[in-house]
Amino acid sequence: MNKKRYYYSDILSFMLKKYGKKLGKIGLTLNTPCPNDPPCIFCNKESFIPQTIQGAETVREQLEQGLPYVKRKYPTDEFIAYFQDNTSTYGDLEYLERSFTQALSYPDIRILALSTRPDSIYGELLDMLERTAAGREVWLELGLQSIHDSTLQAIGRGHDYARFKSAYELIREKTDFSAGVHLIIGLPGESDEMIFETFREVNRLKPDYVKIHHLQVIKGTEMERIYNAGDYGPLSLERYTELFCRAVSLIDKSIVIQRNLSRARAGQLVAPKWNIKAEDFKIKVCDYMDTKGIYQGSEVL
Ligand code: SF4
Repeated sequence: MNKKRYYYSDILSFMLKKYGKKLGKIGLTLNTPCPNDPPCIFCNKESFIPQTIQGAETVREQLEQGLPYVKRKYPTDEFIAYFQDNTSTYGDLEYLERSFTQALSYPDIRILALSTRPDSIYGELLDMLERTAAGREVWLELGLQSIHDSTLQAIGRGHDYARFKSAYELIREKTDFSAGVHLIIGLPGESDEMIFETFREVNRLKPDYVKIHHLQVIKGTEMERIYNAGDYGPLSLERYTELFCRAVSLIDKSIVIQRNLSRARAGQLVAPKWNIKAEDFKIKVCDYMDTKGIYQGSEVL
């Protein structure tokens, strides 16, 4: 891509600056359930489990099976152990400690990254993570999706914004972990202004990174039923590009954007079917930002 000016802080630039190289990522699972039952209306928990580790039980088995694959894919010598499915801090504390210890026992693993829910964050857990990481980096990311309680209720998150905020503040008070926030653009019932309010508020929180994606309708979810009933119209790629760019202009440059869209596995996606890769989406984002003269942080007041 022959673009020179700054558009937004992406993960590759961040890694090159901080670590001097691109780190690989291996997706892992604790094989434990998510406490949110019934699940969020967009969630099909099966869709999270990485294909590279399917069939492997313990974290050790998953690493034995998955590491050779990711080593072929990423020409690098250090990796992020990413527990991404369900709620990666939920469940028995001793089991969690054992699992994370197994992951960190591999010298190739530089960072422990955990994706979780605000109601599965508590002091004892953070103490255990600090002890287990023993100086290695921990990235702890919380699903938020929206700051609007009406939306959180409608999508069945099972927590409100106040619960998110208290978990986020506890992480900031007790640890020096990197804190990330997951956000979705295109949730049912949200106006453009509601989306921008979420990004303005997240900017005030100053997380280390955000993961942004559009709402995908996945097979087997409540969203599929709503979509089939004609009660939800997914965003077009053009509209998502516009909303993404305007939202990103509202957050500070220091916040790394680790994800710009989602790509559900073939066979799982119902809508919208854009078939675009993250790097091609970035080109669209740059083009849009060029036409509007904006960039990440350009509209922060
Ligand atoms: S919290 Fe995460 S894993 Fe649990 S139901 Fe919601 S999206 Fe799915």
